[in-house]
Parts: sequence; structure tokens; C-alpha cells
Amino acid sequence: MRYIDTAELGDRLGPAWHRNAEAETEKITACTDPKERAKAVEDAAPVWRDAKAALYALSHRKCWYCEKRHVRDHAHVDHWRPKKKVRGSKEHPGYWWLACDSANYRLACSLCNSPFTVLDDDDEAIGTAGKGDWFPLVDEQKRAFTPEAPINLEVPILLDPCKESDPKLLGFDDEGVPRSLTNNPDEQHRVTETVRILGLDDGRLNVARREAAYHLVNVVRSTERALLLLLTPDLSPEVRKSLEEQLTAGLEEIALLRGPDREFTRMIEVSLRGMRDSPVGIMLVEDPAGVAKLAASSVRVE
Ligand SMILES: [Zn+2]
Repeated sequence: MRYIDTAELGDRLGPAWHRNAEAETEKITACTDPKERAKAVEDAAPVWRDAKAALYALSHRKCWYCEKRHVRDHAHVDHWRPKKKVRGSKEHPGYWWLACDSANYRLACSLCNSPFTVLDDDDEAIGTAGKGDWFPLVDEQKRAFTPEAPINLEVPILLDPCKESDPKLLGFDDEGVPRSLTNNPDEQHRVTETVRILGLDDGRLNVARREAAYHLVNVVRSTERALLLLLTPDLSPEVRKSLEEQLTAGLEEIALLRGPDREFTRMIEVSLRGMRDSPVGIMLVEDPAGVAKLAASSVRVE
């Protein structure tokens, strides 16, 4: 999970989309019978379908929850607050008044959004997951049942990719398995529930994250080696040139792996944090420009 900045989403959707969303919301609001209302919500599906391209663009075609890229599968527009019913809150009619509100949209892969069988690393079934109509709250008493209720009092348990501080609570171990990065028990509970409900500990994801992290470690270590060698005296011009090329390529690759268009960047950031075990490691992670400068200064010293 990586923070998704939705500040420009409204502009990207354009005036025609907003007019349509408003018109459909009016139709839904005019219904008084719950069955009629549910039908009106279903009929409004083109509104979120038409928002999909703008949502894709915000995450470079990646799922906002698991950071897997959509290649051929169809992403879902998940209603963060479910539109027709809320699992675990029997009496709730669903947040129908937010069905056509783009602030309520999260782009999700079909696995994060729909029920699926979670597998371990050996492909054995270990449970089921998928967000679907789940939207648990820290305090159920604060749940909004109508458009007039103060929705800001709700504190969701699930980590929200659109809230900057939330993805930072999620970490991974060296094997790509999700874990909490906080000591606060309430936040730890949020992480555990998010992993369980979205199935973020699925073995297929663990393996993919692990591979991304292994690749990163190799790039960082070889870049580190190139830098240390560059700082040694009496290098021939040919060797120096080759090392400089390795260093530049390494720094570029590390920057690319951290980029918003790459998969599993949360895992990458957590792995990079673990590589600050040497002064050079710290520089590679936190000050790539400083690394380039240091290498250049070694040339001048010679
Ligand atoms: Zn996903």
C-alpha cells in the first residue's frame, strides 16, 4: 500500500462526469423504498465505471491496496464505504449517498475487492479474504446511517491508501510477509485487520514482494561496492570509468524501484530502511545525490 494523492481527481474527472454523478445521486436520494434505492444505486454503475481511467492514472495501473499492477485483469472501483450494505452492521442500508462520490472510490484488484481463497507460500488454502462490503469501525456507535450524520466521526479500522499516515503503519519482514510497523496496540490492530480482510498475506503476494526485495538488495550492494572501490586510490582510468558507470546505473535503478509506477514500493521502502547498516548504505538510501558528489570528489582528489 502506497499513499495515493487524490487532490487532482476531481479535475481529472471533468465537468461532464460531475454533472452525471450529481444527477444519479439525485435519483438515488429521491427513492424512499430500500429496494428501489438499491436498484437506483445499481443503475448508477456507469458513474464509477467512467471514473476508472482517472483512478488508474493516479496509481499507474496498480491496485491501491496491494500494489500489484493490473496487466490483463479488470480493476474494480471499490466503494471505500460500501454502497449497498455493510458487513457486520446488519441494519445499515449502505452508504448509498456516497455511491457517486469520487472521494469514496479506491481502485482495487479483483482479489483485494472480492472474496477469494488465501494461499500460503506453498499454495495451500489458509482462509478467505476480500474487502467486499467490509468497512469495520473502531467505534461502531459512531457509524453514520444517513447523509446528515457526521461521517467524520467514523474511524475506519482498515488502513486507507488515501490517508498519508496510514500506509506507513504497514511493514514487511525479509520474506515479504506483512507486519505492523507501530508499537501502538490500536494501530497494530488496524494493520492486522487490514492484512486479514484484504488478504495481503497471500503467499503469491509474499513471493512477489520477496523477489522485489531480493532484487533491490542486489542492486544496493553492487552499487555500494562500486562506490567503495571508486574511493580507493590508484585506479586506472578504464577501471574508474567502468565503476562510475556501475554507480550511475545502480543509483538510477534504486530510484526507479522506489518510483510510484513500480509494484510493491512499500516493501521496497521497508527493505531500504533495513539497509542503513553502513554509512554508504545510509547515503544510498537517503542521499543519492550526495553519493554522486562523493564519487566525483574522489576524482578531483586524485
Ligand atoms: Zn490488490
